Amino acid sequence: MTIRLFNTMTRKIEEFKPLVPGKMGFYSCGPTVYHYAHIGNLRTMVHNDILKRMFIENGYNVHHVMNITDVGHLTSDDDDSGDDKMERGAARENKSVWDIAQFYTDEFLRDYDDLNIMRPTDMPRATDYIAEQIDLVKKLQDLGYTYEIPGDGIYYDTSKFAAYGQLTGGSVSGNRAGARVEYNDAKRNPTDFALWKFSPTDKKRQMEWDSPWGIGFPGWHAECSAMSMKLLGNHFDIHTGGEDLSRVHHTNEIAQSEPITGAPWVNYWVHFSFLVDKSGEKMSKSNGEFLGLDAIRKRGYDTMVYRYFILLGHYQTQLRFSWDAMDAASNGYKNIIRRVADVLTDPAPGERDSKVFNTWHDKILAPVSDNMKTAEALVYIQELLRDTTINASTKIALFEFIDRLLGLQFIDRAKRLNDAESETPPADIVALADARTTAKAERNWGKADEIRAQIDAAGWNIIDTPNGSKLVKKI
Ligand code: AMP
Ligand code: ZN
Repeated sequence: MTIRLFNTMTRKIEEFKPLVPGKMGFYSCGPTVYHYAHIGNLRTMVHNDILKRMFIENGYNVHHVMNITDVGHLTSDDDDSGDDKMERGAARENKSVWDIAQFYTDEFLRDYDDLNIMRPTDMPRATDYIAEQIDLVKKLQDLGYTYEIPGDGIYYDTSKFAAYGQLTGGSVSGNRAGARVEYNDAKRNPTDFALWKFSPTDKKRQMEWDSPWGIGFPGWHAECSAMSMKLLGNHFDIHTGGEDLSRVHHTNEIAQSEPITGAPWVNYWVHFSFLVDKSGEKMSKSNGEFLGLDAIRKRGYDTMVYRYFILLGHYQTQLRFSWDAMDAASNGYKNIIRRVADVLTDPAPGERDSKVFNTWHDKILAPVSDNMKTAEALVYIQELLRDTTINASTKIALFEFIDRLLGLQFIDRAKRLNDAESETPPADIVALADARTTAKAERNWGKADEIRAQIDAAGWNIIDTPNGSKLVKKI
């Protein structure tokens, strides 16, 4: 089926043409592991996952590379100044930088798995590719793109690269007034950026390496160019990241890579819009209440509800997060699960009808292949469930496909619901339910609510029906 994506480079929705028939190679900028990922970072990861699953369902063999940034990302993205985010994280928690990197990588992957995001084919850590990054800087030096600022580092001279800033239509960060800090006045152009930073002379860094230019560490942008070339080759299909990355990070990645690999280095640039809070402010690690996936778990939501919430939006539109929106998503998700659970227990499932299967398969895959319109696919899924002319066997086969495409684990949760509903409650929970019935009969609403909370905390839902209350195990 035709695949179309919005390419930031051309500012157009374009038909995807692979470099090698049947194969798709893509690089996505991964997390900086100095803290927990917030749910905005995770939104970006879910969209990467949809991109990948959509290609797989279209028959492609996908090679996905996502880096783990464990060095060199300074607190100011625009001008190579400020502290190293990793070293700052280590100081905050009184741990070594290496321990911080390991801990937050593991935490990140726990969130990744809980959101049912397929693991990348390769997940290189920046610190494992220092030699490749030094090699990249050497090549750029030989080609005449670099200069040294004594006591600071090796810088990339952006005036040497004619296509600089093309990704965002020529709007480049360094031209903004005030983007510079004092010692960077030594830069030749405001947009120049560090390829290699020297370690400070007055304090010892935990992460530093020897290089032809002296002891130091790579600039933040170097890793993505060096690792993508090493793992995907000098020319690959797609590069992705959050919308913030196009202006500086990706612009600089292109400037570092194309003099070496030849243009174009990447065929399609795909950027995902931000998750924002109620007031439209971008979600970040420092803003207000820290919203990681744990905040979602702690409020009792299935993490799949967050994935479902993301897929109700489009990747090119900012998504506004609120607990009310999560509740609405939760109701929608549970509604689908309830109906899939009924399909699974249909006493007369019939034979799988391949003609009907193919029609619906294509109907659902088409909007996702067309610039990843997941919300449209979800509308068709509702339609599919409502259609009484389609037998249960065909619906189950279609939901297996839908789970592969959208990763929403509908069948797994529906099975859990069926299991939970057939589970007999233990005696102490039944006793609590009886006590609640008595409290209600006595019109003691406070006590009844208190008991409901106790039942809830023990992992059971109490559902009031016209024939009395029913206990159902939570899934
Ligand atoms: P970081 O860990 O900050 O390096 O970011 C990892 C990924 O999350 C990058 O692709 C960012 O562009 C993306 N990102 C950062 N903030 C948000 C946000 N509020 N919403 C969506 N994606 C984000
Ligand atoms: Zn990157």
